[in-house]
Amino acid sequence: MTETLSRLLLRLSEAGDPAILWGRQAARHAGHDFERLLDRGVLIEQAPATEWDVCSACDCGLDSRPVQQVNGRDVAVCPMDRRSDFVLSDDELRSFRICLPALVREIAAASGFGDEPSPVAACVWHLGQALNQRALFLALSADAVFQPGMIGLMLSVARSSAVTVIAPAMTAGDLARLVDAGLHFIGVSDCISCDGDAPGFAIDQAKLQLRPSSAPRLVIRRTARTVSLDGMPKTLSDQEFQLLVFLSEHALKSPAIVENRVIEAHIWGANIHKIASQVREPVRALRDALALGSRDATAARALIENRRSPNGYRLALPPEEIQLIE
Ligand SMILES: [Zn+2]
Repeated sequence: MTETLSRLLLRLSEAGDPAILWGRQAARHAGHDFERLLDRGVLIEQAPATEWDVCSACDCGLDSRPVQQVNGRDVAVCPMDRRSDFVLSDDELRSFRICLPALVREIAAASGFGDEPSPVAACVWHLGQALNQRALFLALSADAVFQPGMIGLMLSVARSSAVTVIAPAMTAGDLARLVDAGLHFIGVSDCISCDGDAPGFAIDQAKLQLRPSSAPRLVIRRTARTVSLDGMPKTLSDQEFQLLVFLSEHALKSPAIVENRVIEAHIWGANIHKIASQVREPVRALRDALALGSRDATAARALIENRRSPNGYRLALPPEEIQLIE
């Protein structure tokens, strides 16, 4: 199957700026859609090439060879061997720069995000709120997602909303970093409807739903008072159970931290004597209980994450990884 123009442009954009579409690739896609992208400034034609790659096994030592007019034709001239001269068609000399902000504007408009997408950093845009109420970001290159501080920046732009990132396919290790930070990832090619009858740039919001097939990591049954983490049953005291349920309820609503005083009031009631901040002790016990029997005890302990200013804790799992059953 021939690659559609929209998929080709998205693939070329993965290299970041400048992303170039060569005339020979473009020629296959000549037509109304192509002209429209030129009109919209998504594709910007560049001056015809004046240099060309050297022959594949050449001793000329040049980085590139000049394009010269020979008998009215454009020829990439080999200084070593005339037989290696290469006659170029007009299409081959053409090239188009893909204007990444304009491409993202096209995607946002086609997907019903009316407002101008706001750039968050190089190659990363905030599109707005998706139908599932998550803050939606689009990164044209996977590397862009892992620029220093990028994950924190997206979380802060999202304010208290959960975050979905649309980006090109990434390694399992990188994916784990996103999941650990509570972000949901979906591949560009999995949700932008480039193929099919109406190739275009629209994001299919139905594809943004979280994968229902994978089991949530944390399953809590309130009535039965059972907890399992990564399929492993955990034994919790009443207080540990109560604390975990409380943090889970919060994590299902927002990734924000729960302040110590709020946790204390929940565990001991608002009217207790003002003993010094004691929430640390039940948290330690809960971490121990979660870590016991876990393959990665450190990671299990880190699920109850503490933060400063304001001092508090949160359950470091995205909502889709938590199942709270009555
Ligand atoms: Zn040569």
